[in-house]
Amino acid sequence: MFRRVAIIGGGAAAATLLGELLERQPPQPLHLDWYTGGTGTPARGVAYGTTSDRHLLNVRAASMSMFAGKPRGFLDFVQHDDPAIAGTDFLPRRRYGDYLEAEVARALQQGNAHGHDVNIIPFTVDALVPERDGVTLIHGEESHRADAAVLALGALPPRPLSGVGPAALASGRYVVDPWQLLAGAASIKPPPRKVVLIGLGLTAVDVLLELAVQWPQTEFIAVSRHGLLPEAHLHKAAAPTDDSAELIASMQDAPEIHRWLHLLREACAQETDWRPVIDSLRPHTSSLWRELPLEQRARFLRHARWAWERARHRMPPQASESIAALEQSGRLQRQCGRVQSVELVDDALQLSLTHAGETRALHADMVIQTVGLNTDVRRTHHLLVQQLLTNAHITADPLGLGVQADTTGRLRHDGASWPHLFAIGTLLRGTLWESTAMPEIRQQARNLADQLLSD
Ligand SMILES: Cc1cc2nc3c(=O)[nH]c(=O)nc-3n(C[C@H](O)[C@H](O)[C@H](O)COP(=O)(O)OP(=O)(O)OC[C@H]3O[C@@H](n4cnc5c(N)ncnc54)[C@H](O)[C@@H]3O)c2cc1C
Repeated sequence: MFRRVAIIGGGAAAATLLGELLERQPPQPLHLDWYTGGTGTPARGVAYGTTSDRHLLNVRAASMSMFAGKPRGFLDFVQHDDPAIAGTDFLPRRRYGDYLEAEVARALQQGNAHGHDVNIIPFTVDALVPERDGVTLIHGEESHRADAAVLALGALPPRPLSGVGPAALASGRYVVDPWQLLAGAASIKPPPRKVVLIGLGLTAVDVLLELAVQWPQTEFIAVSRHGLLPEAHLHKAAAPTDDSAELIASMQDAPEIHRWLHLLREACAQETDWRPVIDSLRPHTSSLWRELPLEQRARFLRHARWAWERARHRMPPQASESIAALEQSGRLQRQCGRVQSVELVDDALQLSLTHAGETRALHADMVIQTVGLNTDVRRTHHLLVQQLLTNAHITADPLGLGVQADTTGRLRHDGASWPHLFAIGTLLRGTLWESTAMPEIRQQARNLADQLLSD
């Protein structure tokens, strides 16, 4: 087992791994260094650091436990205060943050009782050097040794889209990080009259729900290639279809995206609701993804990703109703188009959009980039990731989906896996595809804890 483990990251993935490790009683106590990154409350991260009750979990309460071994964990936590809450409810993400914090506090106490030693270090790790028998971590002027390290960095900081001019960026009217904007939206006075959002996924939904209330006079235009919102969950939950074995076997027989879409369409057409079919694939997504040759994965990203994401990452029904009301009131318009450029013209931003062979212009007081998670380590300014890549300690996924790793989360370099350098969560998208939400992260945390503590 590794006795001294460094966990790098201050979000839910790091907190879950910490909890898994501290509740075990290995033959010798552990020493954990938890580098929490220094911004926000440890454990909450970007997703659960929101204070707005309009920001809802997009997964039902019953499926949001932090721990694979305690499936009712989150539900028990919220029902303790309010027994009327049902497992099928979509609760505010703020409540999930409360749960994460409470579980971390409990885990620290339990770890203490088991003799484990935890050092919470509220800084970012700037560099990391893997060596034969351990790793050295550097933050500022200090360096520390550990027997093993786990990268739990979440998604990379967002980057402006190509085509956004330097004057547009410098104007402050082009917003690259929507979460930072939401944190300070109330102080923007007067609010912009016309806002364009680029991207129409769950991030756009969150931003619209919040800003529509905070800026009641503002009009919104949301642009994406297909102009479609994420699908919505139904109020009533349905269990995933349990007869998906045949579908999965057919998919495995022909690992080809065109064929898979055909099979999925056929399977969905046989059901009254397509959602349980999509959900039934979830436990198999990683193994299906691994069956796909690289060129098929690239094809999926080019042609089918948008459709998969909107069916798979659905919005809660309440969010869908609020967005529909915003559209009906005329304050939200959706448009199809690819953004080619964003320039500052006089005192406003001008977007050039193409759609169906035509180019047109849109004008806005503010443009917000809501394109979803950034996972491309090849083009990031994240200091630690840049250093690891430059020194060839890690290898980028060829399609921009994080870093190369084996299925146990061990990072790969030079065609081999490091014995003591791991990742959990979003960085593993290229290996597992489905690797950002709590149902996957908690399973990864459990497996990783097993590995770190095995002989
Ligand atoms: C807005 C939003 C809503 C979501 N809603 C849901 C949901 O409803 N249900 C669900 O299951 N999933 C949801 N997700 C998915 C979400 O990614 C996961 O649930 C979870 O929050 C991921 O946690 P993480 O720790 O991997 O990443 P993050 O929460 O992003 O945490 C990463 C942490 O690493 C730190 N860090 C980065 N670099 C360093 C460094 N060099 N040194 C030290 N620390 C560093 C950062 O500061 C941050 O604290 C949502 C995601 C977002 C963005």
